[in-house]
Amino acid sequence: MMSASGKLASLRLPPLPTVGELIKLYNLRAEKQLSQNFLLDLRLTDKIVRQAGSLRDAHVCEVGPGPGGLTRSILNAGAADLLVVEKDTRFIPGLKLLSEAAPGRLRIVHGDILTYRMDRGFPANILKPWEEDPPNLHIIGNLPFSISTPLIIKWLENIANRTGPFVYGRTRLTLTFQKEVAERLTASTGSKQRSRLSIMAQYLCTVHKRFIIPGRAFVPKPEVDVGVVHFTPLVQPQIQQPFKLVEKVVRNIFQFRRKYCHKGIEKLFPEECRLELTQEMMQKADVDPTLRPTELTIPQIRALVDAYAHLCSREPGLLNFEFREELRLKHLARNSNAPVDTPTSTPSSPLQPC
Ligand code: SAM
Repeated sequence: MMSASGKLASLRLPPLPTVGELIKLYNLRAEKQLSQNFLLDLRLTDKIVRQAGSLRDAHVCEVGPGPGGLTRSILNAGAADLLVVEKDTRFIPGLKLLSEAAPGRLRIVHGDILTYRMDRGFPANILKPWEEDPPNLHIIGNLPFSISTPLIIKWLENIANRTGPFVYGRTRLTLTFQKEVAERLTASTGSKQRSRLSIMAQYLCTVHKRFIIPGRAFVPKPEVDVGVVHFTPLVQPQIQQPFKLVEKVVRNIFQFRRKYCHKGIEKLFPEECRLELTQEMMQKADVDPTLRPTELTIPQIRALVDAYAHLCSREPGLLNFEFREELRLKHLARNSNAPVDTPTSTPSSPLQPC
């Protein structure tokens, strides 16, 4: 019988042209538009892959494999089934070469990760109930900067709704971000980087910043350093309200980062009942209105979101109220002769007077 290390050795790739040679072979100039910064140092790509934990016999989705450095490290770590999603056609021939070197283990999708249906990408039998250990499925990627924030927000919403990659259970993610974004994702209460992204990520996941890759490690070298972040979805989210509602409250709270938190909370309500409802929400949540947004803990944010949800159930029109829309219409009214009603909500769900 083959030993575990023997089995892993048999999964290692045969000799191939180096990633650098492949780039030359296929004349793969980096495209700025697709945020292409390549990692050619396989020790570094191995280190990123190690942050995911054991990949023995794992299913993996890699985002944006490009010339395939990280892809090789994932295969060498023993992944049984690696599905790569790449938008740029120029990389497909090089990836096919890799696929031939790892028969039956590498599937190539030429597509956009923002629209790719990962819920259909893997066999149903890998599913693990949410409350159990995570499934043997990982998402790994040296993400293009241009899509990293919208992509993680989309996946966080998928976690909240157990859709997309999370129909299989608590799929883990190991991803790179611009260093400042990595810091925001992992920032704790009271830190300067604490932001909307910190709350949205941390109420749903255990989030760890693993290490920083200096910009000079990439080809071409980006302006910034890069952080590797690991996410494991929590069995029980720390806030038990719909994602969109949490997102709305958190977005409002953090719109005035340096002011007292009640300033942003006020903007959840139409002008005519702003002070009264803000006071009621703060009291119900038992949160000091003079705390700064960055000083709020997740339990305090949970109390605020719960209090807002309570007010919305009493006055359903509040749900659709958006302060920016109120501003926009007031501005329109000032600049035209036609009278414009101050909005309190959408016409389909009128807000009752406060
Ligand atoms: N993984 C490679 C590496 O580490 O060297 C390349 C990383 S590069 C930062 C980002 C890669 O994502 C590029 O190959 C780019 O073409 C690809 N990409 C950009 N936008 C994408 C999208 N929407 N969907 C899939 N791939 C995308």
